[in-house]
Amino acid sequence: MLITSQFDSGNIEVIKGDDPSDIRLNIRKDSNSDFYQWFHFRLSGVADTPCKLTIENAGGSAYVPGWENYKVCASYDRESWFRIDTSFDGQKLSWNVEPEQDSLYFAYFAPYSMDRHADLIAEVSGSPLVRTSVLGHTLDGQDMDLVEVGFGPEGRKKIWMAARQHPGETMAEWWMEGALDYLLDEDNPVARALLDKAHFYIVPNMNPDGSRRGNLRTNAAGANLNREWNCATMERSPEVYLVREKMHETGVDFHLDVHGDENLPYNFIAGFEGIPSLTEKQSKLLAMYQDLLCVISPDFQQEHGYDTDEPGTANLSMCTNYMAETFGCLAMTLEMPFKDNDDLPDLEYGWSPERCRHLGRACIDTLAQMIDEL
Ligand code: ZN
Repeated sequence: MLITSQFDSGNIEVIKGDDPSDIRLNIRKDSNSDFYQWFHFRLSGVADTPCKLTIENAGGSAYVPGWENYKVCASYDRESWFRIDTSFDGQKLSWNVEPEQDSLYFAYFAPYSMDRHADLIAEVSGSPLVRTSVLGHTLDGQDMDLVEVGFGPEGRKKIWMAARQHPGETMAEWWMEGALDYLLDEDNPVARALLDKAHFYIVPNMNPDGSRRGNLRTNAAGANLNREWNCATMERSPEVYLVREKMHETGVDFHLDVHGDENLPYNFIAGFEGIPSLTEKQSKLLAMYQDLLCVISPDFQQEHGYDTDEPGTANLSMCTNYMAETFGCLAMTLEMPFKDNDDLPDLEYGWSPERCRHLGRACIDTLAQMIDEL
């Protein structure tokens, strides 16, 4: 029996790995940080053998309520990630499985590797609608990729979208696949009409180092990128620094920051209600976008979400608040679940890559409905 995590986005520490009926594991902390919750590893050599796996340090992780009603993701082929019933006793997370094949992968959510990211960039580069560029490099020396879509008349709206500031929130890059696919479909009339009015600046992965290292929340230096927007430096958070520079160069009329939420089993949007310079127009656009998205996708809702900030109390180190305050635009944080959408549950797969892609398409559709209002 072997347990390994020495691969892209791997994360696990083996405490006891000699008895399939009592496998004990810990999740490794993020680089230079105390956060941890993301895991991804391979179990091999135990086909047709009853196994019990326990993550012993789950109770000390970043979002403990995230383990309640959570089901672990598993895959034989690394494409299809099904769910396995999982129990949490307040400290330990455990599940039983009898692998049908020699090798079985487990992860917190369907992983999105840097290899797949490179494939995505290469694939979209082939579209005549796309220009790709590298904004600079991360602390580990990886590329910060920017995808621009749409080259038409002057004066089009500047639409920014970014995913995976928190690298363990892989659903955000699955969402990007759906959004890009929808935008680049030359037979899609919604996309064609939208691209006459909008120029897209898309960062499919804001945190390549955290992604490859198997972190939940931080980059290589231990920085939580969504607390760096008013203080980014090339030494600590070059990812934010480089993107922010480009945003100031282009201007921003709309920004969508795509995330995953560990605790809540719903899709929802967080806004910028607490920024000092909040305008009536911004509030109206925020409500309009959410109302429209509710109509377009039954996977979206407005009942469950975060509490809104009191006026003037917004944390401007967070991307959405920083963007709304700095550019006076509509800026939003989209949160998707690690668990499932409890309004429309899928017992076999939970919230899944394919459902992320669908929501990505719906979000572009929603933007198209209100592009003239921005
Ligand atoms: Zn996040």
